[in-house]
Order: sequence, then C-alpha cells, then structure tokens
Amino acid sequence: MSSSEVEAGTGANERLATFDSLDPNTGDVLASYPIHDVATVDAAVDRARIAAHWWAGLGFAGRAERLQRWKGVLTRRMAQLAEVVHAETGKPHADAQLEIVLAIDHIAWAAKHARKVLGVHRRSPGLLLANFVATVEYEPLGVVGVIGPWNYPVFTPMGSIAYALAAGNAVVFKPSEYTPGVGKWLVDAFSEVVTEQPVLQLLTGFGETGSALCRSGVDKLAFTGSARTGRKVMGACAENLTPVVIEGGGKDSLLVDSDADLDAAADAALWGGMSNAGQTCVGVERVYVHQQVHEEFTAKLVEKAKQLRAGGDAGAKLGPITMPSQLKVISEHIADAISRGGRALVGGPDAVGERYVQPTVLVDVPEDSRAVTEETFGPTLTVAKVRDMDDAVERANATRYGLGNTVFSKSRGVELARRLRSGMVSINSVISFAGIPSLPFGGVGESGFGRIHGPDGLREFARSKAIARPMFPAPLELTTFARTEKVDKLVAKLITVLHGKR
Ligand code: NAD
Repeated sequence: MSSSEVEAGTGANERLATFDSLDPNTGDVLASYPIHDVATVDAAVDRARIAAHWWAGLGFAGRAERLQRWKGVLTRRMAQLAEVVHAETGKPHADAQLEIVLAIDHIAWAAKHARKVLGVHRRSPGLLLANFVATVEYEPLGVVGVIGPWNYPVFTPMGSIAYALAAGNAVVFKPSEYTPGVGKWLVDAFSEVVTEQPVLQLLTGFGETGSALCRSGVDKLAFTGSARTGRKVMGACAENLTPVVIEGGGKDSLLVDSDADLDAAADAALWGGMSNAGQTCVGVERVYVHQQVHEEFTAKLVEKAKQLRAGGDAGAKLGPITMPSQLKVISEHIADAISRGGRALVGGPDAVGERYVQPTVLVDVPEDSRAVTEETFGPTLTVAKVRDMDDAVERANATRYGLGNTVFSKSRGVELARRLRSGMVSINSVISFAGIPSLPFGGVGESGFGRIHGPDGLREFARSKAIARPMFPAPLELTTFARTEKVDKLVAKLITVLHGKR
C-alpha cells in the first residue's frame, strides 16, 4: 500500500470530487486526482502527528538512513520520474532530469548534515555563570505542511520536504494542481522506504485544499508560489499563529560589466532567461549591460537566441507554457513593451502561440513598463544599456522582488553582488547558488522570507532548545533570596570592570 493510499484507506477518496492533470503539450488528460476537502486534510494532519512522533524517535541516524534510501530510489528510477515531470509540465526530458539530479543532491546533503547542524552544541556560559554548561539543540517542530508550485515540481518542494524530514518532522505535501502526478510519485517512493508510518503524505486539489492545510494547525507551513497566493497563505496561517516560509516569485536581473566575458554572459542570459521556457522563479528576466559593451553583448545574445526554439518535438529546447493562463500575461507584457517604444530583436508579439512562446529579446523598454516591473514567467528578456555599474545596481534593485541576481564581471563581481538587494547572487555563472546544497535559498521583499537549503534550511524546520546546568557551585550565587549584600557589591564591581570602560 502506498502512503497516498494510506489516506484513501479511510474511504474518503471515493466520495470526493476529482480533477484532471493534463499534458500541456497535447491537452490530453493524464490522470484524475481527488480534490481533498477540509475533513480529509485535517485527518491527514492528525495521522501526521502520530507519524511525526515515531519519525522523531528514529533519531538523526535512523532518519538519515531512510532518506538515503529514498534518494537511492529516486536515483535508480530517475528516467521514470523525469517522464512524469515531462508529461505534466511539458519540459524536455533533459531539463526534467536536471531538476531531479539537483533534488537528489539536496536530500543527500540534508540527511548527512542534520545531526551536525541540529544536534547538541556547547555554548560559552559567559563570566557571570561561568560554572554552567550551556548547550543548544534543535528539536523538530512536529508536522510541516508544504505547498508547492508546478514549474519545478521535484526540485522546488524538495527544498522544504527533504530539510523538514531530515530535521525530524512529518510532512503533509500539497503539490500544484498542475503536477499532482509528480507529487504522488515522490510520496509513493518515500512510502517504499518508510513503511511503518505515513511520515510523508500527499494531498491533491486546488487553492481550497491548500487553504485547508494552512488552517489545519500544522506547526509550520512552507509555501512556494506567487506573492499573490503567499499573502492568502499568510492570512490563513495567521488564524492559528502558524509560522510560514514564503518562497515567492522574482524579477531577477543579470548585470554585465565592461570587463565581462561577453560570450559567457550572453550564454548565461539566454539559459537563465529561457530554460524551462522562462518559467523559473530565479530565471533571468532583466539584463543591464554597461554601455561600453552593450552593442557587442546584445549581438551575441540575439545570435544565440535565434537558434533556440519552443515546440513539442524532441529537437525543441523549450517546452510549452505549462499554465495556459500565463500566455495572456506574457503576451500583455510584450505588447506593453512594444507600445511604449520597445523593440523586439528576437520574437515579439507573434512569438506567443496557443501553447508555446518563442524566445523573445526586447530592447529600449521603459523601466516602468510591465515587462520590467512584473514577473513575466516566459522566455523573454529585456536588455537595457546602463551608464555604469552604479546605474545597473540601482535599476536591478528598483523592484519589489528580491530573489536572485547574476553578475558578470571580471574585477568587481563580489562588490556588485553585495550591493544587490536579493537573497542570492551568482557571479560569472547563472543560478549556481541553487545547485549548492549548503547555501541558503530564499528572497527579500515580495520574493518572500525564510530560507530553505543548507544549515539555515534545516534550522527553518526546527526550534532551538537552550539547556543550562551547573557543573560546580557558583562563586557568586545570583538566583537566590539568600544572596548577600556582599555578593551584590561584587557583581556590580565585576560588571563595571568588564563593561564600564566605554
Ligand atoms: P501559485 O501561487 O498559483 O500556486 C502555488 C501553490 O499554492 C499551488 O499548489 C496552489 O494550489 C496553491 N494555492 C493556491 N491558492 C491557495 C490558497 N488560497 N491557499 C493555499 N494554497 C493555495 O503559484 P504557481 O503558479 O504554482 O507557481 C508559480 C509561482 O511560483 C511564480 O511566481 C514563481 O516565481 C514562484 N516560485 C517561487 C520559487 C521560489 O523558490 N522562490 C520556486 C518556484 C516557483
């Protein structure tokens, strides 16, 4: 019995309405899934409470062993999982494989490092309580709800799921309504290596199901999706004071300095902007190029972009737009840019078809147009000439988002990276931070808050527990009514010597 069937075992699924998951390349129905209602969500969270207790009891080593086995299943059946990702999102197999590879690496990292990050650490007790041993350790929260998007249906939710599990929590996962099959595949694979309890459960459905999960009393809710939905998630979680992680959208920029390797920068802008048909939260959407190299860079970018094509055949490097409603947004952004003086050097208004959007490179687009200020989530790039790198930083930061950025510069990469208002920056590479499991991932502003991945990601799903115990009697006993005047005077003297000089 798979763990998604654990919940079907209640008989609830038979009475629930269903929805279809579709192949965005053809529009064909792939499978039907139940729309889980409030009662089924609450029942899943109740089961998760018991499972969480059992899972926490396995300890770091027990959990790591199961997570490593899960990772092994994913690795051995990578082609099968990639096929499910391809079928539901339409992305090419090779791209599906890439996100699975990165997710596998994250599971391995979280499993391997959880004890080191979350286990018992000694802290200095300080001078006043020098006779104490002070330790901190990180306990699991209990049950974590994870709500995921469709654009990277393995990699993105895994950034929360793997780290929450490694920290000792049970997880109730609601994947996007566009990718329920991927969610089911992951949960079923987990239930093969953890047969005893439903430690990772699946819920399927639309926003209402997600909203029920927010209100279910989970101990934390990790949400990845748009800022608009993020607001609703926070509102629902606020009712129970449920803490949230919000991994929202972005409007990431790529900066090209006058001394940059222009071939590499053009390649990075193209891949960062167009891979996954531009449906990447940390995808490049805006490019700011130093005036000295603007012409040369743009020519290189245009030449490369012209060789790229979206389609449903094996030769196409870009797949369809997974969520049909996004086609309208992409089309509006291109139209707005053109109507306000922008020019399409590649693609343009005709690039938007019924399922596919062809690569589009826009120049001379005003900074206050929608193509520059809003998340487009399509294979489009705006390229702007900047006076210097101060101008580039200022324009890059003039967004309400703040997820990731890219800098191409030989001499000033780190300096420019530090000045960018975002959670992550790649220098002379693109989206590289996401593939380094030890680095935190998350944004500022409308891109959200909280961190997944790395030590920060493990601590996000744990609470600190401070423990203080005396090792020998104190020279100065402070916390007793038997404290004498002499002790008070000594303490005052000591603190003055220690802190009274400045
Ligand atoms: P979305 O906000 O439409 O939906 C995300 C999830 O929220 C889905 O599972 C959906 O069913 C659920 N949901 C919808 N309404 C809800 C509600 N009221 N309460 C609770 N849950 C609800 O986003 P999407 O279209 O699936 O994904 C694309 C967005 O995600 C883009 O903005 C993209 O930038 C962002 N994203 C961010 C990251 C990141 O790590 N920061 C990663 C991937 C995608």
